[in-house]
Amino acid sequence: MAAIATFRESRTREGGENAAKEKLKFVTSEGIKPMASFDHMCLKDGLLRGIYNHGFEKPSAIQQRAIMPIIEGLDVIAQAQSGTGKTSMIALAACQLVDTASREVQALILSPTRELAAQTEKVILAIGNYLNIQVHSCIGGKSLGEDMRRLENGVHVVSGTPGRVNDMLHRKTLRPRHIKLLILDESDEMLSRGFKEQMYNIYRYLSHDVQVCLISATLPNEILDMTKLFMTDPVRILVKRDELTLEGIRQFFVSVEREDWKFDTMCDLYDTLIITQAVIFCNTKRKVDWLSEKLRSNNFTVSSMHGDMPQKERDAIMKEFHKGESRVLITTDVWARGIDVQQVSLVVNYDLPNNRELYIHRIGRSGRFGRKSVAINFVKNDDINILRDIEQYYSTQIDEMPMNVADLL
Ligand code: ADP
Ligand code: MG
Repeated sequence: MAAIATFRESRTREGGENAAKEKLKFVTSEGIKPMASFDHMCLKDGLLRGIYNHGFEKPSAIQQRAIMPIIEGLDVIAQAQSGTGKTSMIALAACQLVDTASREVQALILSPTRELAAQTEKVILAIGNYLNIQVHSCIGGKSLGEDMRRLENGVHVVSGTPGRVNDMLHRKTLRPRHIKLLILDESDEMLSRGFKEQMYNIYRYLSHDVQVCLISATLPNEILDMTKLFMTDPVRILVKRDELTLEGIRQFFVSVEREDWKFDTMCDLYDTLIITQAVIFCNTKRKVDWLSEKLRSNNFTVSSMHGDMPQKERDAIMKEFHKGESRVLITTDVWARGIDVQQVSLVVNYDLPNNRELYIHRIGRSGRFGRKSVAINFVKNDDINILRDIEQYYSTQIDEMPMNVADLL
């Protein structure tokens, strides 16, 4: 275990002028200066070219603040609203920090779902296009043999899920000796009870002075409190709770009184759903199966995805949805975090999420990088308190859905 660092509470200040302009207020550690251009970040030439070629013109607010401390080698805790470029920033930092002359794994990025780990691999390949960077997504549901072959051939960055990464470390196929950077995307989820033991096991393999970066849109206090156990005097870039919902996402509710009424409401909404692309969240895999079957038997076209499906099928559905070949995806919280499909402009909570953080992540599947979008919550009589709690907690507004909701898309 790493030496337990004393966690010096950083003096905080409100975000600077740029932040105000973008209506984003950060609470940052002392000395964080926003960098208005990628040009000023002393990035590798090939990386800069890759970034611009990928269509990024200027860094987003979080990228302006967090890229420099990360590439300077500091431990960083970075929070920003969903869809504002955090995962892209992780990819960028990994590209900058690895030495491609070596064949050793130098950066390990962990994500809670296979699809997110694979997405991050793709972003690294895209912006690292001119760097000759070898990246491998080390995720469950894929061939172990292929993982071993890739790792033995030498990769610079591993983007994985905890289970498979643990397995590869245990088999000594993934050699941790040269890993200098550990990034946890969706870090509050990665440090939550479900992953804690696996994370601890992975951490034990790493060098005690490994650089640790935690990234998420939501970082509850109990997670921040934990960070002193494995981080050294981290730079903190945080967002206040009441700044966390995005203005571009209009939030509504529909009163359905009883569970039975949700289905008809869903059918009534279908024409709105297919205006662009929509993601519908249910709280259980069984409900996802039930709802998609029932919609299909009523002649509606929908896709569905959850964690009990074979990975091949999950991959096929992701591909289809990314290409826009399917327009409505019914899914569980496996899709709540990180997944980036820019055309999604509508999220429906068929069931309200089980915690406040999930609400932010679910509605954040739409409204990517400032796009306009709509979130609709189905609310049973006894759910209204949950919704009011969310509204209050984030100081946001969730109105009754207007008749002309389609006009807002
Ligand atoms: P987050 O992890 O904060 O949810 P992502 O990194 O997934 O955000 O980025 C959301 C979307 O914004 C992606 O489609 C990504 O390509 C795009 N994006 C990220 N950074 C930039 C940038 N600097 N300029 C333009 N688009 C960006
Ligand atoms: Mg992300």
